[in-house]
Amino acid sequence: MVAFGDVAFDMDLRALVEAHRRQKARATAVVHPNDHPHDSDLVELDADGRMLALHRKPHPPELVTRNLVTAGVFVLEPSLVAALPPRKLDLVHDVLAGALARGEAILGYETTEYLKDMGTPSRYRRVCDDWARGRIQGARGPRPTVFLDRDGTINHHVGYVSRPEQLELLPGVGSAIAALNRAGAQVVVVTNQPVVARGACDEAGLRAIHARLEHLLGREGAFVDRLYYCPHHPHRGFAGERPEYKIACACRKPGPGLLLRAMEELRVDRGRSWICGDSPCDAEAGLRAGVRPVLVGPSALAEATRRELPWYPDLLHAVTAWLATMPHPRPAATPEAIAC
Ligand SMILES: [Mg+2]
Ligand SMILES: [Zn+2]
Repeated sequence: MVAFGDVAFDMDLRALVEAHRRQKARATAVVHPNDHPHDSDLVELDADGRMLALHRKPHPPELVTRNLVTAGVFVLEPSLVAALPPRKLDLVHDVLAGALARGEAILGYETTEYLKDMGTPSRYRRVCDDWARGRIQGARGPRPTVFLDRDGTINHHVGYVSRPEQLELLPGVGSAIAALNRAGAQVVVVTNQPVVARGACDEAGLRAIHARLEHLLGREGAFVDRLYYCPHHPHRGFAGERPEYKIACACRKPGPGLLLRAMEELRVDRGRSWICGDSPCDAEAGLRAGVRPVLVGPSALAEATRRELPWYPDLLHAVTAWLATMPHPRPAATPEAIAC
């Protein structure tokens, strides 16, 4: 295992090594989204986590990928290390990129555990602040989580989004999500996407749309920790539909399936978690999963009033209200004390 000296991390290393062995990888790179993807090496993974591409910074403006960057922690097979030439090498640019070019199996290990680059003075101060406020240790246990609907909450609701270029962020969304990221909240998108069942785009097309979503958020210094979608729709009988997706599933909101899956895979502190959406379906899914529902946007005001649910004009207002509910723990130590 190799960890860069300017990375602060607190993770389950046994689980990392087990994943590396299970996938029979020659090398494994821990990957995650960060708030400066434009200034980071970006990776593309297939559905099993195998690395398909490694894009070194600086990136051409036309590159639109998921916000997934190498986090500075790696597992390497001894035989890979033994075969390296005896000269100064860059682990990502020479060793990983070389193995990828030779077609070797590289695993991208996605995690929401605490890993932060502290290689600039401002990033170092943020890590010190996270330590002092207990956010590094706190990332191990159940975390406050804000679930977000997609269409009408994060991006303009323009009917069915079936191509990446149709997705545009609503004003203030980047700032709202960046504030959640800084506060140590998990940000999880839960979205119904019956465009797949309708045959308007396939799941690869949906992944391209979500890569644009992550790219646009990254430009505003914001990221989502996970995104779960339901591709199904219960009603048959439309031209061009995909029958295999036309099922009555448990994941389509107002069902709680997407939230429950997130709770299985991530550590979620339900009592301190909200779901923000612009539809009664979002509120209902939250109620069924035991998460406080909050409606956002002008179109949701009437429903919020009728059902006596909290309502805010947009996501930024909702997030400001959520942040006000969070306790502000006193710093346990000063950054200077840690520096010693
Ligand atoms: Mg919506
Ligand atoms: Zn579904």
